[in-house]
Amino acid sequence: MTYAISGECCSDASCVAVCPMNSIHPSPGEPGFGTGASLFIDPRTCIDCGACADICPVDAAKPADESAPADVARNAEYFAASEPLDALDLDSWRPPTYELWGGGPRRVLVVGAGPAGLYATRELLLRTTAEVTLVDRFDGVGGLVRYGVAPDHPQTKQILSSFERIVRHERVRWRPRTEAAGFEGYDAVVHAVGAYHSRRLGFAGECTAAEFVAWYNGRPGASLPVELGGPRAVVVGNGNVALDIARLLLSDEDRLRSMSPAVRRTLAGSGIKEVVLLGRRGPENAAYTQSALQELMTVAGDRVELRYHARPTAWSADGLTLDTGETIAAGNLFTAIGFEGRPIDGLPFDPERGVVPNDRGAVVDRPGHYVAGWIKRGARGGIGVNKACAQETVQTLVSRSRGAVSPGSGSPRCS
Ligand SMILES: Cc1cc2nc3c(=O)[nH]c(=O)nc-3n(C[C@H](O)[C@H](O)[C@H](O)COP(=O)(O)OP(=O)(O)OC[C@H]3O[C@@H](n4cnc5c(N)ncnc54)[C@H](O)[C@@H]3O)c2cc1C
Repeated sequence: MTYAISGECCSDASCVAVCPMNSIHPSPGEPGFGTGASLFIDPRTCIDCGACADICPVDAAKPADESAPADVARNAEYFAASEPLDALDLDSWRPPTYELWGGGPRRVLVVGAGPAGLYATRELLLRTTAEVTLVDRFDGVGGLVRYGVAPDHPQTKQILSSFERIVRHERVRWRPRTEAAGFEGYDAVVHAVGAYHSRRLGFAGECTAAEFVAWYNGRPGASLPVELGGPRAVVVGNGNVALDIARLLLSDEDRLRSMSPAVRRTLAGSGIKEVVLLGRRGPENAAYTQSALQELMTVAGDRVELRYHARPTAWSADGLTLDTGETIAAGNLFTAIGFEGRPIDGLPFDPERGVVPNDRGAVVDRPGHYVAGWIKRGARGGIGVNKACAQETVQTLVSRSRGAVSPGSGSPRCS
């Protein structure tokens, strides 16, 4: 499924900034932008992430199956005469380029090849003359797109092939299976290490989202820390990750086909037939999106029970006990109650928010160090939000690089 924009579009273009695939046009600067017509989504490149719908101030971006057929057709027609744009192509897209000179950063280290690190790298390549060393502790690029996004959403994972093109650029030195051991020789460091550590209820036997998701996505070194046993599981949490977990627990084998055979067999053979989804607050406070809820209901609506205003107090062989005294009989407890970042050696850390304190991406009191993505702003927001976030960080890096902008104008120079 893709998204479409209706005629209610206000053309404020906030969706353009967060679209991970550059699928929304006309964008500011392109012919037709600001002439009163709406913006359109290219159905050939949309990866169904919903970033446009989340940010749209007038609710004009919607999943195609919730849009009027005429709107879906209008979106497709707008692009009918053109080739699909390569979202992250670094050769054909030529925005203004900052020529760094003098003391400006020439060698930049980007730590983490998730969306934030990759968008930061792309932005550095497009806007500066810097050479980028990109490291990640894992093999492949993409971070949580590879090891977080649910495997039954292959359309979203398609962005990985665009990400892979970034690391093949001639000004990028890509170092997989590498953690930064020091920063000597670099003029600036962008830390884009994410915030993938699950908050926990603290009950023995609880399986956290970070553990479960890493296992079903085949992340190196990840294993399932609990035995799966039916017939009922409780998933605590009211965000899209909780819904991913519930949906995959209840999916048939066909829907699980893109997973490894071992994971597929374990899930499909678990005996889990129903899931109780527990929210601490009411449905009006739930963090999941309507489209994610609708998908869960389509896959397994009659086997999911949504419970709100529920506070777990204990987990035992009998099940999950709530503060009301009630015990929900269940064989497994999964928790998806949020993620948080961890401190980075040598940088300040805000334990309350789980982020590195920063000013538009510049780490407070650590010149030359920058942050992007979840470690910068907290564990929230989809793939596309990291694009605008990384752009802001690189803009800050450029503006703080003394004398970095071409002399004379103090403004971007078009190449
Ligand atoms: C379970 C789950 C499902 C999601 N599903 C969707 C979805 O369907 N659609 C959507 O739009 N968004 C989704 N999101 C959100 C999206 O994944 C995030 O917005 C995005 O991944 C955050 O990007 P990031 O680069 O900040 O962090 P990450 O993606 O976590 O990337 C951080 C990278 O840094 C690397 N790293 C960490 N520490 C080090 C180190 N010390 N040295 C070297 N490398 C290091 C990690 O290996 C990783 O590759 C999901 C998130 C989760 C948790």
